[in-house]
Amino acid sequence: MNESNFMPLHLTESELRAIQLKGLQWTVSHAYNNSPFYRERLDRAGVKPEDIKELDDIRRLPFTTAEDLQEGYPFPLRSVPFENIVRVHASSGTTGKRKILCYTQKDIDDWANMFARCYQMAGVSKRDRIQIAVGYGLWTAGVGFQAGCERFGAMAVPVGPANAEIHCQMLVDLQTTVFCATASMALLMAEEIHRRGIKDKIALRKIIFGAERHSARMRQRIQELTGAEHLFDIPGMTELYGPGTGLECIAHQGIHFWADYYILEILHPETLEPVAPGEVGEMVVTTLRKEASPLIRYRTRDLSRLIPEPCPCGNPFPRHDHILGRSDDMFIFRAVNIYPGQIDHVLSQISGIGSEYQIHLYHREDGRDVMVLKVERAPESSPEKDPILKDTIAQAIRRHILVRADVEVLDYGTLPRTDRKSKRVFDHRNGNSQPGV
Ligand SMILES: [Zn+2]
Repeated sequence: MNESNFMPLHLTESELRAIQLKGLQWTVSHAYNNSPFYRERLDRAGVKPEDIKELDDIRRLPFTTAEDLQEGYPFPLRSVPFENIVRVHASSGTTGKRKILCYTQKDIDDWANMFARCYQMAGVSKRDRIQIAVGYGLWTAGVGFQAGCERFGAMAVPVGPANAEIHCQMLVDLQTTVFCATASMALLMAEEIHRRGIKDKIALRKIIFGAERHSARMRQRIQELTGAEHLFDIPGMTELYGPGTGLECIAHQGIHFWADYYILEILHPETLEPVAPGEVGEMVVTTLRKEASPLIRYRTRDLSRLIPEPCPCGNPFPRHDHILGRSDDMFIFRAVNIYPGQIDHVLSQISGIGSEYQIHLYHREDGRDVMVLKVERAPESSPEKDPILKDTIAQAIRRHILVRADVEVLDYGTLPRTDRKSKRVFDHRNGNSQPGV
């Protein structure tokens, strides 16, 4: 059987850099010549397209933010005539006005090619049957999963986020091998498969998760209940085409990203200078081929880090870590920059606790800052073990994040159930005793 190839497996670092420089020069020139917004921004920064002579010149370019997209509503960053736009998608964003992004036919094709590369990365073949449980429409990008599947040549089963009944029926009757969903939908389905006792009747091998942060514990549970061999995290942001701009690999050590389509910078969220390789910072992206709504140094506010070492899987594309949080959530405690995602990561490796937690910061009268970490005891654990649990958690925090935390263990179900956008950090240090404000 002929498998199409979407992955330049022998790409060298110098070839990649050449592609990036050419793409960067094209993007700046295209944006300057066709978007009044970008022309004004670049003029103000004193940069002309011909000034981009090497990759490092990216640092001369001005930043673009979510606020720019909101202010440019309804067609922000538009850099092609309307007759060349074939589709729009919108992102609701975490705050404020929606952001609408335009696509030319070439943008749609590029997106499908990137997505086909993701399926290839996941080891999918044309014989695979891909059940898509992601929504289709203005806000969501089921259509990206679908177009990539068709481009790749596997069989798409476009169910959307329908009810569990239809999903289970398709899983059993069509013997679906790959399931694409948000992390919470995947967990819901895993529990449904377990409840109905159909694990032995389905053929699910791989699950691709999009759009949400998820804990190691959640992944483990999904894998146990469904029997899937591999779970892959897929990053995706509407501003940058949508899902499919990279994928976790079969070695499960980070996310390879398609650096021939965009440049990823990891910058300190306050100084906006590059952090050291491997350190956590804000993801800032610049597209290399995007026509309708190109991005120049777009501040995503998502936190991650580059993984500088070559991957054991042998794939030539660079890697970034999972999304570790939002830069707005970063806090400084005793001169250490801390992100909730780091705490999340430490807690997810300790057994005997639930997945909910809160971080409270106080300023003591003696002038010292204290951190109180509230976690829940797992439902099956006994309160007698609380002192040992406290100790284990405090030690792990000290070892991995290099700060001291006072740990409080609460009964299971005490903390409010939250979604990924909810606040976990409550800073009371400025005399502000109102948690959540
Ligand atoms: Zn890899």
